[in-house]
Amino acid sequence: MNLTLNRTDLIRSESLLDGAWVAASDGRRLEVINPATGDTIGQVPDCSAEDGRAAVDAAQRAFGLFRHTVARDRAALLMRWHALVLANAEDLARLMSLEQGKPLAESRTEVAYGASYISWFAEEAKRGGGDIIPEQHANHRLLVIKQPVGVVAAITPWNFPMAMLARKIAPAIAAGCAVVCKPAEDTPLTALAMAALLQEAGAPAGLVNVLTTSRERAAGLADTWLEDFRVRKISFTGSTPVGKHLARQSADTLKRLSLELGGNAPFIVFEDADLDAAVAGLMVAKFRNAGQTCICPNRVYVHQGVYERFIDKLAARVGSLTIGPATSGAEIGPLINARAVDKVESHLQDALGRGAKIVVGGGRHHCAEAPNGHFFTPTVVADVDASMRMSCEETFGPLVPVTPFSTDEEVIALANDTPYGLAAYFYSRDIDRVWQVAEAIEAGMVAVNDGALSTEIAPFGGIKESGYGREGSRYGLDEYLNIKYIRHGNLAARQPA
Ligand code: ADP
Repeated sequence: MNLTLNRTDLIRSESLLDGAWVAASDGRRLEVINPATGDTIGQVPDCSAEDGRAAVDAAQRAFGLFRHTVARDRAALLMRWHALVLANAEDLARLMSLEQGKPLAESRTEVAYGASYISWFAEEAKRGGGDIIPEQHANHRLLVIKQPVGVVAAITPWNFPMAMLARKIAPAIAAGCAVVCKPAEDTPLTALAMAALLQEAGAPAGLVNVLTTSRERAAGLADTWLEDFRVRKISFTGSTPVGKHLARQSADTLKRLSLELGGNAPFIVFEDADLDAAVAGLMVAKFRNAGQTCICPNRVYVHQGVYERFIDKLAARVGSLTIGPATSGAEIGPLINARAVDKVESHLQDALGRGAKIVVGGGRHHCAEAPNGHFFTPTVVADVDASMRMSCEETFGPLVPVTPFSTDEEVIALANDTPYGLAAYFYSRDIDRVWQVAEAIEAGMVAVNDGALSTEIAPFGGIKESGYGREGSRYGLDEYLNIKYIRHGNLAARQPA
């Protein structure tokens, strides 16, 4: 697949700053690579810290006007953006598959999923009201209003280049905030196309600024936002180390933070589970985006009574997965870059060295159609234990480690024995067990007898070192709003009529 779209103007090679498409102020460029082939598919600006400051200047100016808009108009802007995203869904999906590597079918699903956040927050914009508190004295009134926090810095990852951006920018606009955004260096083209559609929808200049930058310059650019008092909130999706860095560095200006960080999701199969349903759920949850999602099951615990049967069923499904570039119709695309393949391989080697066994798969995949691609064969590893790296760290690839267990207490302790707490999955048909486990698991999101979690109508987010803040749902808008209590005193006391 080459870079031909229905609308070639969606392929942007400049950043959006204050309503204008601009190069980096020092002219530096960043190459965008197709991870399936290693080919360069485009160039975008490698923006500097100075560009980052200019973006905050623009956003602050835009915020000065936008904060006074009414919810109905902000909702209308979002609905126009939503309509344009859907009208150009195929182009967005192709762009995303090219720079990210995920199968075209998954990119199409992501565009629909990301768009659902835009329409959701268009609706929520109109519902984000305040409160009236019953007064304690007849001569005063107490109210709560909600106001936009100000300029928001949105830093997004490469694994869902469209949806993560929509999930941050839509609530910011709904709330009345302005945005400075830095997409991941691996996937800047999707972000710029989304920015172009937002501009076309009528977003005022400076309301949303999207600056692309290289990995080398990411920290410098983000530091200017961290130091700048005018940036009142950071919304970040990415790794836990970078999330901690952002929390530390924003302490001086006490910004609001939404951090959606790494995970280490357990997937538990109890002996009373419907094994076919559990295998089907695991396939969906584990292999989406070749295992590169923060809610991917990273540790699979199976009761010893059904361990062998479950592994046989799982191996049959995993062994039949097809691998190839995004447009080949394959179910598993390339990993994002060479670093990602190295990590999966090192986790596998570590586990094998400590006694784990390969059931199916087990190494890099050579794709004749794309010999330079970063492919890894979907792999199941049995007899994994808690000492292995793949049990403690997020593998972020198509690797399923399976561990046997014998009691509920044991498996709950194993599942919770991690600093992370994003997603968890389990399969059981015992109603008492379902509630006991759902409540005992330390995670922000728990799927019971289901392999899917994400939807715009439910709160997405973690606990422990998976971060804080919630995206989507009726909780998501409050992340972008300040609460203000207004007390109106010394009124004439209420008189009987
Ligand atoms: P990953 O390892 O999966 O790429 P990261 O947390 O490193 O996850 O990246 C997520 C996002 O954070 C990307 O947009 C990346 O450019 C950005 N990023 C990386 N380092 C920093 C940093 N020091 N400050 C701000 N953003 C950063």
